[in-house]
Amino acid sequence: MQLQTQNLGQLSVGPDEYGRIVPQGGYPPAENADGAIIIIVNPPPGWNNLAAVKALNIATNMQTTYNYLTYLNQVLGANMSPLQADTLILLHEFEHTPLGGNASANHRGNPTGYNKAIYAKCIK
Ligand SMILES: [Zn+2]
Repeated sequence: MQLQTQNLGQLSVGPDEYGRIVPQGGYPPAENADGAIIIIVNPPPGWNNLAAVKALNIATNMQTTYNYLTYLNQVLGANMSPLQADTLILLHEFEHTPLGGNASANHRGNPTGYNKAIYAKCIK
């Protein structure tokens, strides 16, 4: 398995149906290149500080700083440190590699249930 960094694009955020500012796509903190042995990590200003990810607010079309760590903790019902969150993300991508079991990526766009299982088994 290899880790590489590559710009995977910027996070978009915007209001959900309750007015909360949530991720709207455009940004994986890391990804597995479709079953390959390579895990690509999105470089700073995202990966190394998930509490302050540079993002585009699509409602205002303004650049903002988004606390992705708090978002992850809220949706998972967790209280992860930044290191634990980075670990969760790498374990998630590892499960998509051949060594990690070639897990399907059909949760793309809504990985919360998948991440809850990893959190419960490996992080909590
Ligand atoms: Zn995935």
